[in-house]
Amino acid sequence: MSAPEIFDTELFVELSAGLPRQGPGSTEATLRALSMVNGLPARPKILDVGCGAGAQTIDLARATGGEIVALDNRPRFLDELLARAATAGVSSQIKVVCQSMFEMDFPDASFDLIWSEGAIYIIGFASGLSHCRRFLKSDGSIVVSELTWLTDVPPATARDFWARNYPAMQPIESNVKSAQDVGYSEIKTFVLPTADWWDNYYGPAEARLTQVAARHAGEPETLALLGEIRREYDLFRAHSAAYGYVFYVMRKPA
Ligand code: SAH
Repeated sequence: MSAPEIFDTELFVELSAGLPRQGPGSTEATLRALSMVNGLPARPKILDVGCGAGAQTIDLARATGGEIVALDNRPRFLDELLARAATAGVSSQIKVVCQSMFEMDFPDASFDLIWSEGAIYIIGFASGLSHCRRFLKSDGSIVVSELTWLTDVPPATARDFWARNYPAMQPIESNVKSAQDVGYSEIKTFVLPTADWWDNYYGPAEARLTQVAARHAGEPETLALLGEIRREYDLFRAHSAAYGYVFYVMRKPA
């Protein structure tokens, strides 16, 4: 689902509108990662980069009582986020910013915590971490989740698929090294359970894809594109031991 060419099409809107998440994750995983962050002040200032419809934004608002800037470049996701925040009673804690993560212009040292689930790949793992660093207060933390190889020898089908769709994917150790190289320390990681892919992301997305395919029957190009997306789900069914989403919890040293 990461192919940039489909992100802004009507088809992508059909595929993604109203779904619970835009990437693998869960409330449990967000709270687990949050529990690994040390030294957070009361009511922290948080930046959520690539927040999407805001599943994790609302979890963070509830769990920290902090002030969150939720940033995404797609207004329709931010509209969904605002509606959900109102339902959850956390609207007063959340400010949305419709801006590209490449163009963020916050003052230096604005945030105690920067969060990015399933979105830092858009800049690239190492460049994204490097790019965000100046917005963090010293001793602040950054938490990202990132598609990561879990084996040194990926099965050929998985290797070929991701060579086409996310060639920059690295194993955990390389990402940890990159994070150290761009100036973070106290790096902790955990692998997202496979249920967090299916329950909130691939499951609902696959059901939606089936409905969308039925609406586009007789459009071979659209069906071919939908088929490639479906291959991503089938690939994960077969090879979830070879790659996964990994949370990286990191600190900017004082
Ligand atoms: N964090 C959410 C969404 C992850 S999907 C979740 O886990 O559910 C990636 C998100 O990044 C999408 O909402 C997409 O609109 C957003 N995005 C893509 N390119 C972006 C850019 N250049 N700047 C900011 N956000 C971007």
